[in-house]
Amino acid sequence: MKYRENPQNGDQLSLIGFGCMRFAKDEAEVEKEIRYAIEQGINYFDTAYIYPGSESTLGKVLAKGLRDKVKIATKLPPYLVKKYEDFDKLFYEELKRLQTNYIDYYLMHMLTEVSVWERLVGLGILDWIKEKKDKGEIRNIGFSYHGGKDEFIKIIDAYTWEFVMMQYNYLDENNQAGKSGLQYASSKGLPVMIMEPLRGGKLVSNLPKQVYQLMNKENADRSPAEWAFRWIYNHPEVTVVLSGMNSMEMLEENIRIASVAEANAFDTNEYQLFDQVREVLNNTIKVPCTACNYCMPCPVGVDIPTCFSCYNDREIEGKFAAIGKYIMQTSLKSTPSNASLCIQCGKCESHCPQKIEIRNELKNVKKSMEGFYYKPARFVIKKFMKL
Ligand code: SF4
Ligand code: SF4
Repeated sequence: MKYRENPQNGDQLSLIGFGCMRFAKDEAEVEKEIRYAIEQGINYFDTAYIYPGSESTLGKVLAKGLRDKVKIATKLPPYLVKKYEDFDKLFYEELKRLQTNYIDYYLMHMLTEVSVWERLVGLGILDWIKEKKDKGEIRNIGFSYHGGKDEFIKIIDAYTWEFVMMQYNYLDENNQAGKSGLQYASSKGLPVMIMEPLRGGKLVSNLPKQVYQLMNKENADRSPAEWAFRWIYNHPEVTVVLSGMNSMEMLEENIRIASVAEANAFDTNEYQLFDQVREVLNNTIKVPCTACNYCMPCPVGVDIPTCFSCYNDREIEGKFAAIGKYIMQTSLKSTPSNASLCIQCGKCESHCPQKIEIRNELKNVKKSMEGFYYKPARFVIKKFMKL
């Protein structure tokens, strides 16, 4: 395993961090994976108050003598804080779930704009942080972020942060905070933790044929996931890259890549490869949804990320395959979850870190994926599946 140093405090952090948002379903399997990850040198585990069951599951495993071998990163959900007392209420609940008495890396979860931080400051968070740091209950304070570059810089400048977490991958080099945001954070001496390195899996499977051809031509031994990780590791400004690893196979592959990849290692051909791949992908992806689920649940049951995923796949996998998938995925439930159910209430849009115009895009999904065939096909499937 390769490590990069946190320039603020000298911590040696594993290049790949364990993203704990979606653990495997079986607890014994999760424990096996966490133990294996630690044995192989992964020492950064990222969870959050709002990831269902994640903090408790991680806490249960780490309590078996593993706590001191890792750094735990977890997050405060700012929108659940209404008054000063809520800081303690949420934080101590997190400590209890994680079965620990300190958090190594504590983040304000998804600060979308500086005003969200200012509201917390108004509620007294600066005194609260000082108290927690004095007691040794919080070691480092940071924030996670999904918005644009300008607001990212404003938030960085609004406080003496000790680390930041941002979305970054080869398709988002110039989206969101992007490369310039990464460089700005690094120029301030901040370690940068990266999320969405594979863009919710979109950079791994069902890519256009042309992308596979381009990648194989450059180096047939590297999978699309390996290319995507190597692209990020090539940036010296990056400290830890988080990956949601919920199978042993994925864990082994990611550890292998993080054990060999270097910063500033790309040659001209490799840089050119990514220019070409980006061009192909940008021509195919219609909705930049990362399947983060922050917009969910929808009050009328629309499965927003699934609708967008199938819609995007139409360009990549072809019309019939994508529509078939859409019908199956929006019908194989006791209640339907297709795009045309949307009542245009708009509740989802303010939660979307990608600033997707969800209502408009769902209209497009409805138009392309719910032709005359949709209802009869759904009827047949439901009858067949006895739903
Ligand atoms: S706008 Fe549509 S998809 Fe979004 S929450 Fe409202 S009904 Fe659901
Ligand atoms: S629409 Fe936005 S909030 Fe919803 S899953 Fe996609 S990226 Fe996340």
